[in-house]
Amino acid sequence: MSDTHTEDHIYIVGAGHAGGELAFALRQQGYAGPLTIVGDESHLPYQRPPLSKAYLKGECEATSLYLRQLAAYEKANISLLLSRRVERIDRANKKLVFDDGREVTYSKLALATGGRARRMTINDATRAEGTSNFRYLRNIDDVMAIRSRFEAGQRLVVIGGGYVGLEVAASAIARGVNVTVLEALPRVLARVTAPQMSQFYEKVHRDAGVDLRTNIEVTHLEFNATGDAVTAVHCTGGVVIPADYVVVGIGLLPNTEVAQAAGLDVDNGIVVNEYAVTSDPDIVAAGDCTNHPSVFCGRRIRLESVPNAVEQARVAAASLAGKPKAYESVPWFWSDQYDLKLQMTGLSQGYDQFVLRGSMESKSFAAFYLKQGRLIAVDAVNRAQEFMVAKRMVAACKSFDPAALADESVPLKTLAGPVQPAAPQA
Ligand SMILES: Cc1cc2nc3c(=O)[nH]c(=O)nc-3n(C[C@H](O)[C@H](O)[C@H](O)COP(=O)(O)OP(=O)(O)OC[C@H]3O[C@@H](n4cnc5c(N)ncnc54)[C@H](O)[C@@H]3O)c2cc1C
Repeated sequence: MSDTHTEDHIYIVGAGHAGGELAFALRQQGYAGPLTIVGDESHLPYQRPPLSKAYLKGECEATSLYLRQLAAYEKANISLLLSRRVERIDRANKKLVFDDGREVTYSKLALATGGRARRMTINDATRAEGTSNFRYLRNIDDVMAIRSRFEAGQRLVVIGGGYVGLEVAASAIARGVNVTVLEALPRVLARVTAPQMSQFYEKVHRDAGVDLRTNIEVTHLEFNATGDAVTAVHCTGGVVIPADYVVVGIGLLPNTEVAQAAGLDVDNGIVVNEYAVTSDPDIVAAGDCTNHPSVFCGRRIRLESVPNAVEQARVAAASLAGKPKAYESVPWFWSDQYDLKLQMTGLSQGYDQFVLRGSMESKSFAAFYLKQGRLIAVDAVNRAQEFMVAKRMVAACKSFDPAALADESVPLKTLAGPVQPAAPQA
């Protein structure tokens, strides 16, 4: 079946944070033509951060995660095709082919396909996915399955000590669940933060009652007699951890297969330029699925964060509307665990100096990462106001006196000075 050809119809593939934002940004940019979001989940575009936080704890309902309610899409004349997957892009004929075989014609296309949970590679992993108590965490349906099992006294094993795994642990502890976290690397959050920050979070979790183990790898899983539940997680060193539930959070793989099959440039993400345009000038891309040039970092990066999804979606919309503006944002992210609000800006990889302002014991501090004197990243814990200033300081790509950064008697905004335009890193 084929649609009647319309001259002008923009399709957005992916009804996530980037896809939802892109649609409304297009309307704000003045595009008034036909506009459709296609998403393979059954939900309206929603925020994922609460999936490991408030929603997992049962503190809110799925509809409260929606970026906007249905009436807003109707009012903006944005069509939604949900529970529908785009299987193929026929760029030569400007057609999308859906999973039900239907085809539609696009004038311009936006890809906001996000990513999916990275799967474990141990032999039993596929078998475990068929059981009732083993789950990866990426979407609302995953959490609906997990949170119904969060009862006091249950034994939860979390595989992966990254942000998602640690947030799941904190949420489960709040519900009285017995939690074990297994991290293969020598410390948690190893890929994204300094050893001092890892130690801080390890202590916080252990103090809260989490059995947190590092340097430990899962070798295989044990199943019950009927094979429909995992009963234990076996690890290196002969360690066996009994489990009523297993949640895996070991990272994300970008959804790039449809783009790649269509011949678009893909390299750890759909390759886009600073205007969010792919190697096809009629196709833009935004969010977790893109590999984009970062003015701030001086190299190509792929980010997994809401601010990136939102800001890049706006850039992509501007390009589609014929009003291009370059994407120049400094990366930032947050994580909520227990009573700790962690906010991070910049990317700390390659730092050679770590400066602490405030004390970790007080659970209110900021960690500054410097590279050859220049401030490249800040992690702030329970310091929301200083974080706002720190964002400006990191964006300025300037050197700061480490002693002054550490000195709490010197207000951070005095050090930051007037707002500076971002300069590229070497
Ligand atoms: C548990 C969890 C906690 C998080 N916490 C934070 C946080 O605290 N702070 C933060 O900044 N970020 C956080 N993130 C990351 C943040 O949610 C993502 O960066 C953001 O959702 C990216 O949005 P996106 O639109 O690019 O991708 P997604 O949200 O992944 O949306 C992409 C959508 O496209 C759909 N799709 C893919 N391919 C197709 C296709 N071919 N056809 C149709 N539909 C398709 C996908 O199913 C999905 O619904 C968290 C993520 C998770 C999973």
